[in-house]
Amino acid sequence: MKNTRIVVAGPRGRMGKEAVNLVLQTENYELVGVLDRKNEGKTLAEAEGMNSNAKIFTDIHECFKSTKPDVLIDLTTPEVGMEHTVTALEYGVRPVVGTTGFSKGDLAKLEDMCKQTGLGCIIAPNFAVGAVLMMKFSQMAAKYFNDVEIIELHHDQKLDAPSGTAVKTAEMIATVRETKKQGHVDEKETIQGARGAEYDGMHIHSVRLPGLIAHQQVMFGSDGQTLSIRHDSYNRASFMSGVKLAVDTVIENNSFVYGLENIIE
Ligand code: NAP
Repeated sequence: MKNTRIVVAGPRGRMGKEAVNLVLQTENYELVGVLDRKNEGKTLAEAEGMNSNAKIFTDIHECFKSTKPDVLIDLTTPEVGMEHTVTALEYGVRPVVGTTGFSKGDLAKLEDMCKQTGLGCIIAPNFAVGAVLMMKFSQMAAKYFNDVEIIELHHDQKLDAPSGTAVKTAEMIATVRETKKQGHVDEKETIQGARGAEYDGMHIHSVRLPGLIAHQQVMFGSDGQTLSIRHDSYNRASFMSGVKLAVDTVIENNSFVYGLENIIE
């Protein structure tokens, strides 16, 4: 079986480090390079003391020309992640993107590029299989409960709010929920933001605290009852089985996929 040649972008990051380890530990995966913004030309062993001689590139064009990867795993920031993903598709490299914060316009552009190039691309706001099930169960529940509040909780170094998972959950719920502006019609915030962000009349609340990793509770209410669906990621290894599933799928797939729920039966 041919090795899958992989470049990881963001290898010093919390998620990127886990992804590098996943690639190094997986049979038939080959880490052919990493994309960072420092340590040009060094190896991961020299720069990070990691058990790999994969070369560090700061220029994505040089990286792709020299390493000819099959897949790019991107775990960086929304701005640079989008640039990396577009460039990957231009070079015939299939992107697996965990970076969150892409806009609707970004997603539409990437979908278009996949149609034009016939390449697979997977954007997954959450790689944890349990989180994907939490989103699916929430979508099921929303058929019966029209009132819902999404509370997402993350570590305090997270750059975007609300989380990509919360936005994706709201989008999935909106496909089955009748649009409704929740709360009292005369409701007023005495402190701005008290009711959180609004998506199609539902509210999303973002909690940021040290000690947390990635957690979400979707709370439904109706007469005399509530239903809470909750998922907790306690470490970043919880995301890696989803990253592997995405890498194995993107190699076979020739279209754009947004959300791991679309490749989990
Ligand atoms: P992090 O620890 O801040 O790592 C981001 C890394 O990207 C840093 O090492 C940063 O370098 C690097 N970076 C910034 N600009 C770069 C560039 N131009 N080229 C290459 N690397 C660059 O963040 P994280 O917690 O690992 O999260 C990374 C992304 O994944 C975020 O968008 C986060 O929301 C998302 N995430 C997704 C999932 C999922 O399941 N899909 C789960 C958790 C997190 P510096 O240190 O020099 O800035």
